[in-house]
Amino acid sequence: MNESSTSVHPGATPGRFEFDLTEPDPIPESGIVRANELMRSGRLFRYTEFDAGRVNDAALLESRFAEMVGRRYAVGVNSCGGAMFISLRALGVQPGDRVLVNGYTLSPVPGAIHHAGAVPVLVEITEELTVDLQDLRRKALASGARTLLLSHMRGHVADLDAVSNLCEELGLALVEDCAHTLGARWAGRTVGTFGRVGCFSTQTFKHMNSGEGGFIVTDDDEVAARAILHSGSYMLYEQHSARPPLSAFEPLRGKVANYSLRLSALAAALLLPQMDLLSERIQKMNLLYSRLESLVREIPHMRVIERAPREEYVGSSFQFMLPDFSPSQMVTVIGIAGDYGLPVKWFGEAAMRGFTSRPTHWEFVEYAVEVPQTDAILATLCDMRVPPSMQLEHCVIAADILRFAVQEATAVA
Ligand SMILES: *Cc1c(COP(=O)(O)O)cnc(C)c1O
Repeated sequence: MNESSTSVHPGATPGRFEFDLTEPDPIPESGIVRANELMRSGRLFRYTEFDAGRVNDAALLESRFAEMVGRRYAVGVNSCGGAMFISLRALGVQPGDRVLVNGYTLSPVPGAIHHAGAVPVLVEITEELTVDLQDLRRKALASGARTLLLSHMRGHVADLDAVSNLCEELGLALVEDCAHTLGARWAGRTVGTFGRVGCFSTQTFKHMNSGEGGFIVTDDDEVAARAILHSGSYMLYEQHSARPPLSAFEPLRGKVANYSLRLSALAAALLLPQMDLLSERIQKMNLLYSRLESLVREIPHMRVIERAPREEYVGSSFQFMLPDFSPSQMVTVIGIAGDYGLPVKWFGEAAMRGFTSRPTHWEFVEYAVEVPQTDAILATLCDMRVPPSMQLEHCVIAADILRFAVQEATAVA
């Protein structure tokens, strides 16, 4: 490595960030071939009435997904938002019920609770960006909620042993939002297998890309059968391969609403070859993440998010805070980074922008529980993507730009 790829130059005007972080990664060629074959056959819908013996790509993918995660059952659906909505319904959440959710998450998470007719109860987070266990206990007792939708937002995993124990003690059903933790582990166990149900996303900017798509995983026969029926299987559920025995469906016939939130066979065809590439992608992202983390850690005023030794994370995006910066200094940092070609997202933004929002923006959350600790953390929290196609030298340039932006913002203060 030459000098410029190993050191950040304090005070120097940074170079431009020439890599486009807003671009998704392409579908691997083998996925394109598979999708083309499927389109020639016309069988884009996963079920067929007359040729049931044939295993559709959606069913094949579900089996492989269940095996990878280490759960008996997997149900492909249209999105992670759809997966969370169906999971809540399959667990028996009724309209008007309260559902606990950590306040640092993406808007489709409280959205899924709202979709189920239930009421989100926001729980504080800590500076590790994970759920605050004391506040979780407090809010659970105060609200009477029976369900926790735990979002591993941006891949930050809470102490899942402690969360599981607390859920057991308080009688909470745990649903995990794993949109950012495909392949992650806590204390050696796959994230998404701690809860009754785990929900995943294959939206374009997640770990596998089918445009839209999601999964529900569970070991519970009844929840799996309900989820398959809710997802829109009609009476063709037999065509699932990662499903409970047919007897699990019998008592549910005609009693479970069809919400038509299926996984398309076309999405499955795009995803099947990506399953084989996942561990390589994760390795690449983690290498980039740790490089970025060690560089940014050295920048004055910056705070990186500390990760627990028991957390094996997937670093598909990188977060940092500037705890002593004012909103106008934050605007300066984001502006300068943008001028140098580095798109940095800021959770403290006054109005919602792009994908980024925070609890005060979610006016549809009617149950007004304040989360001041979360608001204070999000006020200076920033975020950038770390796609696997990025290179190590981009980490150096990004850190150079951030250091320069922070210096400029400090100088004008
Ligand atoms: C993207 C995302 C979702 C929603 O996934 P969709 O598949 O787009 O519905 C949910 N939770 C988190 C943390 C996400 O990042």
